[in-house]
Amino acid sequence: MPSYAFLRNEFIPLEDAKVGIMTHALHYGTAVFEGIRGNWNEDKKQVYIFRLKEHYERLAQGSAVLQMELPYSVEELCKITVDLVKKGEFKEDIYIRPLSYKSTEAMGVRLHNLDNDFLVFAIPWGRYIDVDACRCCISSWRRPADNVIPPSAKITGLYINNAFTKTEAQSRGYDEGIMLSQDGNVSEGSGENIFLIKNGRLFTPTTKDSILKGITRDTVMTLAKNELGIDTIEKKIDLVELYDADECFLTGTAAHLTPVSEVENKKIGTGEVGEITFKLQKLYFDVIKGKNEKYIDWCTPVY
Ligand code: PMP
Repeated sequence: MPSYAFLRNEFIPLEDAKVGIMTHALHYGTAVFEGIRGNWNEDKKQVYIFRLKEHYERLAQGSAVLQMELPYSVEELCKITVDLVKKGEFKEDIYIRPLSYKSTEAMGVRLHNLDNDFLVFAIPWGRYIDVDACRCCISSWRRPADNVIPPSAKITGLYINNAFTKTEAQSRGYDEGIMLSQDGNVSEGSGENIFLIKNGRLFTPTTKDSILKGITRDTVMTLAKNELGIDTIEKKIDLVELYDADECFLTGTAAHLTPVSEVENKKIGTGEVGEITFKLQKLYFDVIKGKNEKYIDWCTPVY
């Protein structure tokens, strides 16, 4: 089945969707992206796109950071995306990649006096972290402070920091790397937020700890509160607290809710998937697949 892209205001086959070699974003990382999942529900023969609107709201905010105004409203972007996925006739889990980018074909490092455009494509995509529980290292690459590159926006150029982390982790034999903030507190994984559980309480770094404010992070916090009666405490988390946690997991659109079994070869808790993590994971997967009526408003059906 051919995949499609939406580029320069039209739907075209993915293989024909090209940008010029002088495109500003290609040279200077002047773009903002999103990662959105469409989840296949076999019983309903339906693809549900998860929290579509929230992803485009974040794309709009990030675009503003790079002095770009999206050429479409959030509502229009949602409709374009549903139409795109429909054209692909997907019957599996998919990944949707929107990009808001400086499209002018010109040289010169700057943000001003450049045109911008929007593109999006969708591809089949299964698991991102392909293990049931992941082993993490502490990255030697720290997350930049807000006055270096704000990690609260998914700026393409920023992701070199994440790429350094992922490659370091995998070359050391780990699945993922956890980055610290400039002040040495736990920040986030290369593509995930992080949560700890200690004595039945749920903790995660604050939005001041150089993190992306994850949509999965918000989903998990909401489910923990509503369904398990557990409030999440947002606080600065140091390395000792991380090593000392009973349970630990990562959250992200690509990674879903992935338990962490070890950090730097030290087991977290028993090293097995913890009880609360397991419960949250079950709730999360039902919700994203449109199997929980209470949260069906988070799921946009495609067909
Ligand atoms: N942190 C980083 C650095 C990420 O790239 C992502 C993935 N978008 C996340 C956290 C998780 O965000 P979300 O749950 O919105 O996908």
